[in-house]
Amino acid sequence: MAGAARGGRGWTPLSSVDLGDVERANVAAAMEQGWISGTGAFVEEFETQLGERIGRAHVVATANGTLAIELALRAMEIGPGDEVIVPAFTFAAPATSVLAVGARPVVADVSAETWTLSPERVAERLSRRTKAILAVDVLGHPADYDALGELGIPVIEDAAEAHGARYKGRPTGSLGQVSVFSFHANKAITTGEGGCVATDSARLDSRMRLIANHGMLGSRPYVHDTVGRNFRMSNLTAAVGVGQLARWESLIEARRRVSRRYDELLFDAGCRGRPVAPWAEYSCWLHTITVDDRDTVVRCLREAGIDARAVWPALTGQPVMRWNGPSCPVSEQLARRAMWLPTYNALSFGEIRVIAEAVRAATGERPEDGGAR
Ligand SMILES: *Cc1c(COP(=O)(O)O)cnc(C)c1O
Repeated sequence: MAGAARGGRGWTPLSSVDLGDVERANVAAAMEQGWISGTGAFVEEFETQLGERIGRAHVVATANGTLAIELALRAMEIGPGDEVIVPAFTFAAPATSVLAVGARPVVADVSAETWTLSPERVAERLSRRTKAILAVDVLGHPADYDALGELGIPVIEDAAEAHGARYKGRPTGSLGQVSVFSFHANKAITTGEGGCVATDSARLDSRMRLIANHGMLGSRPYVHDTVGRNFRMSNLTAAVGVGQLARWESLIEARRRVSRRYDELLFDAGCRGRPVAPWAEYSCWLHTITVDDRDTVVRCLREAGIDARAVWPALTGQPVMRWNGPSCPVSEQLARRAMWLPTYNALSFGEIRVIAEAVRAATGERPEDGGAR
């Protein structure tokens, strides 16, 4: 999903970046030093500092979040003939990454209480070919990792939408055998384009570094034993990232503030917020609500100059999936009813109030249940 460009007069975008002086100074320093591609001090700093923050032994920075998932799958030697369980309610990148390595994404429904993978539905989809469960911490909320872990299959965590969230006190990014972040411009922590894979496994770490660097070892330059690619993050990009890591707490808190304000203003407005499990600490990415007549509400808001958007279609209906397995009713219902409201740190309480009033007006416009349309 593209971050909205800053709109013209009277247009409130869905998303807008929060970059500061530290990021600017770091980028200037990287340019000054001439280290602007995939090797450099900022890349190392970014990997080390992020690993410390989320409590992981190894972090491999990548060019974006989608390639981070692909790198994890390749390092785990997942390919043709293998199956990976993916949730039906997600941005498509986890599923398309499984397709990209030649494996088969097997779609499982989410639970209505968390909007993340239902361990019961996953159990029904396991087969001899299942090599991994790719759990998504969808819309700022961790999946139920203890329950997924009991199924005895390696778990990959996609935390692209959940920087700063926690599962039973443990930070996202530490919850899978490997965990992935995206740092796309519309994510809570950004490097423009960027991603990473985090793990405690030294074996997977060195495997990933090999694949991410053309399959070349530093000790044997220009000798290729493995089909490697170039998945690297640039030092220029990591310079932005180190600046963002320094401001992590305030960036996460600013989004929470926006989300809490929406909750306060909308609790009685004919819509529902995102559910949060008792064991989860939610961290807002995009503020999400569900409404009965979603498409009408989105249209009314857009006519009022507000970049509200419908969420992704369920994976069961994505053309690229050609899914002919069982339906996923919870995800399919969510895909029809959920929508996003503008969420970024510079949104003022006044602007949030205007958006909330527009939601109220739009839901009020709906005909009564059973009324003529
Ligand atoms: C954004 C996102 C990605 C992709 O990250 P990019 O950096 O845009 O490639 C992957 N998974 C999920 C769940 C996402 O929301």
